Amino acid sequence: MSELEAIAREVASCTRCELAKTRNLTVPGEGNPAAEIMFIGEAPGWHENQQGRPFVGQAGQFLEELLRSVDLKRSDVFIANVVKCRPPQNRDPMPEEIAACRGYLERQLQVIKPKLIVTLGRYSMAKFFPAGKGIRDLHGTTCVKEGILCYAMYHPAAALHQPALRRTIEQDMLKVPGLVEMATASAKVEEPLEEKPAQLSLF
Ligand code: SF4
Repeated sequence: MSELEAIAREVASCTRCELAKTRNLTVPGEGNPAAEIMFIGEAPGWHENQQGRPFVGQAGQFLEELLRSVDLKRSDVFIANVVKCRPPQNRDPMPEEIAACRGYLERQLQVIKPKLIVTLGRYSMAKFFPAGKGIRDLHGTTCVKEGILCYAMYHPAAALHQPALRRTIEQDMLKVPGLVEMATASAKVEEPLEEKPAQLSLF
């Protein structure tokens, strides 16, 4: 069994927070174990809770469109969430739930070692970006967290609730290939990306 499978198995029987009581299926995440890009959303929704897979509802369809726009498929990347179980009525995840679940995501990151983390939505962004600014300011910008380049985007579901954001999300996605190239080039010259206390806007 691979380490990622072992994590998924642990998640399947996890009772570390209250979400264990109301979930149907756990949603550990899926994709290429050697992915260069990891997309990290917030929490499973209704469809994900039924299928045990991340981003399979309408927001997932939009994410797949976004991936296609930069010549990527789901199987090229790894897709996960900050919490692995659905909050009831799709409410926001509570701080204690995020804290209880953090170890699983951190272990996935250690195994996959992505060159680029794309945060989808504010809860995922808050895990990697310095506090103080909201997603309106930070979407489309980067920071470096523990040597990994991180890039903030709105959650794809935001476009379903606010159609005016769709174009912004599409434009932000177009920057992803260049960021991967930049992270790869940085790794090749063995100059680790400098840790920045604040976000670094590359565009
Ligand atoms: S959300 Fe995370 S910590 Fe809470 S029960 Fe599910 S897997 Fe465990």
